[in-house]
Amino acid sequence: MLSHIFDSHSHYDSSQFDGIRYTLLDEMFSQGLAGIIHASTDYGSAIFGIETAKRYERFYTSIGIHPEAASRTSDSDLKSIYPIVKKDKVVAVGEIGLDYHYEGYDRERQIYLFKEQIKLALDNDLPVIVHSREATLDTMEILNQFKPRGVVHCFSGSAETAKEVLALGMYIGLTGVVTFKNNKKAKSVLEVLPADRFLLETDCPYMAPEPFRGKTCISTMIEHTAKKSAEIMGLDPLELLKITEQNAKTLFNIK
Ligand SMILES: [Zn+2]
Repeated sequence: MLSHIFDSHSHYDSSQFDGIRYTLLDEMFSQGLAGIIHASTDYGSAIFGIETAKRYERFYTSIGIHPEAASRTSDSDLKSIYPIVKKDKVVAVGEIGLDYHYEGYDRERQIYLFKEQIKLALDNDLPVIVHSREATLDTMEILNQFKPRGVVHCFSGSAETAKEVLALGMYIGLTGVVTFKNNKKAKSVLEVLPADRFLLETDCPYMAPEPFRGKTCISTMIEHTAKKSAEIMGLDPLELLKITEQNAKTLFNIK
């Protein structure tokens, strides 16, 4: 099963992994994990992704500035990521998008950075990894305007919004949230989601699936998210893992 687990969204640069980071990655890759994509949040995080991708054959990275970093990101900070997008094993621009959840967010700045980074992706023929939290209307308007290839990760919208994302040709990423009790929203999304547009992800160290909810999440825990998703979709878990592995490889152009 492990050999078909592809974690399309992770944050192994999180301080929660300090002291165990490389032992953990060594172990999971030696057990045969299919692949991991690092989701960058700022320049330093992007450099972590590039360096770690040199260390592990099946570790890839995105390059981008997260909306939560928007208010501390100058135009020269933004420009600093442009040249590194062309580096080896950079498979996407992300994670980029809009987050109106936290206090004091700067909507205009977030929208500006989101649009500029979508243009960066289009100019480099790369997909985008989109983060959208409490910002569905603005996110969908911008995605409809630019129509990038990509994924809306940790999808938290309704089945209706999921259909709009699918109509744009994009993928939907779901985390361990799928396994949480009484998660009717995720269930309703899975009911309209074709398997060939589904990406499995951890968003680790966050969002650990049941029975690990609240603990530090790691990529191998995707097995539990896959099992629950497969049950809702009426598929065999291994079959779903194989399909979602292939989806990630197709979207991120991985051989
Ligand atoms: Zn993330």
